Amino acid sequence: MTNLPKSLIEKLDREFVVNPLKQRIVQESQDGTVKYLFELSDGMLIETVLMRQHYGLSVCVTTQVGCNIGCSFCASGLIPKQRDLTSGEIVAQIMLVQKYFDERGDGERVSHIVVMGIGEPLDNYDNVMNFLRVVNDDKGLAIGARHITVSTSGLAPKIREFAREGVQVNLAVSLHAPNNEIRSRMMRINRQISIEQLFAAIEGYIAVTNRRVTFEYIMLNGVNDGVEQAQELADLTKKIRKLSYVNLIPYNPVSEHD
Ligand code: SF4
Repeated sequence: MTNLPKSLIEKLDREFVVNPLKQRIVQESQDGTVKYLFELSDGMLIETVLMRQHYGLSVCVTTQVGCNIGCSFCASGLIPKQRDLTSGEIVAQIMLVQKYFDERGDGERVSHIVVMGIGEPLDNYDNVMNFLRVVNDDKGLAIGARHITVSTSGLAPKIREFAREGVQVNLAVSLHAPNNEIRSRMMRINRQISIEQLFAAIEGYIAVTNRRVTFEYIMLNGVNDGVEQAQELADLTKKIRKLSYVNLIPYNPVSEHD
């Protein structure tokens, strides 16, 4: 834009980025899942996944480079957090996935977002909230709040804060175990925030929002998938049964952990 004053061009150059991501690798599977490797402006790499669901195209976005939560079943947690993504870098993941489909010219649109990629979204709270406003706004990507799900490993104080935001997006909690003994083995975060503290925050969230919470539960053979654990899980969620449900997930082996 050579018609702008030089000082303004310099300021824009210093303070703004137009294309925060570069597409490095794209892999498409037979079931329609597409994996993207993006490079950030500082050279760091992140992954985004497009899933083809019966209800539409759903993008799983990354919110941090690496992750400090350290879940034992997760490959992303092997790399400690390098930095938070900006809200622009999170929005750009959706835009580049949409561009990929636009270039095919078959008119498919991204309709759903899950904030479940690399990183703990509520540990990058302000940028994730800003991202949610941009993708939901009619002047942004206009994706309905009810088509967006934020997943947390269970940062109880942030769940309380999230409840007060007044947003209509869905909340998912990675529970994965019905008691502290198993959960602390699977998820380091449970050693700081116990199941009792987590459930107090979730019950508070439901009381404020009257919205349903999804519990994610990865089934690990002989670890958390017995009848005894199923009973414990039923007891744990009894109080909020009408406003919660459990999503059982098959384990996806991570070679580094085998
Ligand atoms: S919080 Fe998410 S990204 Fe981080 S280690 Fe756990 S499962 Fe992996």
